[in-house]
Amino acid sequence: MSDARAFLEKTVSFMQSYDLGLLSDMVVYACMEKAKENGITTVRTGDPADEYFEMGGADIPGKLHLQSERIATRLGLNIDHPYSKKEVREIAQNLRREDNMMYINTDVPSDQYQQYERSRSSEPPIEPGYVWTKLTLRRAVYGILPNDVIYGMKAPLQYGAWTYKLTNGLNDDGEDSILKLEQEGLSFWETLDKGAHVGLYLIYKKAGLTPPLVMDAQTQYACSWCAGAVERSVDICYTCGGNPPYEKPKIRSPGKDIKIRKVI
Ligand SMILES: [Zn+2]
Repeated sequence: MSDARAFLEKTVSFMQSYDLGLLSDMVVYACMEKAKENGITTVRTGDPADEYFEMGGADIPGKLHLQSERIATRLGLNIDHPYSKKEVREIAQNLRREDNMMYINTDVPSDQYQQYERSRSSEPPIEPGYVWTKLTLRRAVYGILPNDVIYGMKAPLQYGAWTYKLTNGLNDDGEDSILKLEQEGLSFWETLDKGAHVGLYLIYKKAGLTPPLVMDAQTQYACSWCAGAVERSVDICYTCGGNPPYEKPKIRSPGKDIKIRKVI
């Protein structure tokens, strides 16, 4: 766990960010760094697939801002997104449901995230060995990867890689530091993970990092959450993960006069 914590700190500095998304980005970063060490120059990721299918099969606008792309660029790697290509999407659309999903009697569940969500509710756990999805992708690497990797449980990166556990104890000062930072004008996600967001900020601050200044008011504005510069063409702050960055999240301490730090 201490290695993972050290790598999280490295990711904060590498991405110059304390976005909660770093808990999944650090997994992508670790894989790409390893790929680079092994002499690989181009990496492929499947991350625009969700956006594509969420949009009901519409063309993906060219303005997708993917973290994987930012990580690859910083590492000097080329990146390729097969799902952004029409030919790949056409093949995917022509697959039958049974090409991609099948009941397989395995001794591990196929969907770890669903298990995790169930573990937090009163619903009974799902019996292991049920419908496995993404079979086309799994079959594509038969004989290339070990079976237990091919039949790894489906989970968001931070759960599959267990990095979500790093959120425990990220903010040792608890409520006190959250309130103090909010009074300084900073905002954090109003979620169960709020302490984790503050904890990431403390790592960011300890590393001597500060949000980038707005250098060009025509193309940038100051994030309402962290005051860092945000490009007008994107709807997320890459520094703090504020979304949308032009609007502060609900503040928990009503009556406090929260001022946003001024940037030039
Ligand atoms: Zn921000």
